[in-house]
Amino acid sequence: MKVFSTIKELQEFLTDKTEIGFVPTMGALHDGHISLIKASKSECKTTVCSIYVNPTQFNNATDLKNYPRIIEKDLEILASVNCDVVFTPNDFEIYHNDFEKLDIPLGHLEEVLEGKFRPGHFAGVITIVKKLFDIIKPQKAFFGQKDYQQVMVIEKMVKHFNLPIKIIPCVILREKNGLAMSSRNMLLNSEEKKAAISIFETLNKTKELFQKDVDPEEIKVEAKKIISNANLKLEYLEFANAKNLSIVNDKTNQKTICLIAAYSGKIRLIDNMFLN
Ligand code: AMP
Repeated sequence: MKVFSTIKELQEFLTDKTEIGFVPTMGALHDGHISLIKASKSECKTTVCSIYVNPTQFNNATDLKNYPRIIEKDLEILASVNCDVVFTPNDFEIYHNDFEKLDIPLGHLEEVLEGKFRPGHFAGVITIVKKLFDIIKPQKAFFGQKDYQQVMVIEKMVKHFNLPIKIIPCVILREKNGLAMSSRNMLLNSEEKKAAISIFETLNKTKELFQKDVDPEEIKVEAKKIISNANLKLEYLEFANAKNLSIVNDKTNQKTICLIAAYSGKIRLIDNMFLN
């Protein structure tokens, strides 16, 4: 496994590589990340994983400061699954002290769910992913559906710049108890972790009621009860059209997804589930 922290060395190594699969991450790797590496390895000749905690996508300084950074362990994990290349740049390599964000039209994706509650977050995501795409020039890039809205934003960005890159969405990996794997789970104490499992319970209950034809407003009431009984602080729980993330308040025949953001203690967690 090759590890590079400069663009020059990385690009020299990649010059003669064809069929590059790319998995961008912020490190503190778990099996969710590894499932993306495996998907890339199964489809591409060379898999590049980046580990970079991107400051421009954090809209909260404490969150950025506390984000887990365990690079040595990450490299061990990536070596164990035979990842071909790891890119570990520092801030200067990426931004040269100019932390200005790319500004492209995202339509309503900017105004709902993560777009609404984390202003500037997606502009930061687009900025780093575009920079990394330009540096690595992959044919395919793999993203987790845990960040469902992010996948849509990336697809929009790829279309906007007409990039010849195929975006591959990958399913959510969960702990045995249902908790969606996340680097931020490391920051939860045991009580907060137990409470966080209720996000999955809520999604399951929501799906069950949705399939029983219960009115969406009533489902929300039931779902919110589970969340508050678990001592979680709900930021949003919404139903949306899974194709375009327009918010749905009535039952439709369209593929529908439930998306949740909630705090367990001080840690903000997101999760989602298809309802039909
Ligand atoms: P992050 O390191 O949090 O920026 O995530 C890097 C990539 O891993 C993103 O595409 C995430 O959507 C994906 N990812 C994070 N958690 C999971 C999970 N539990 N299952 C599948 N993919 C995930």
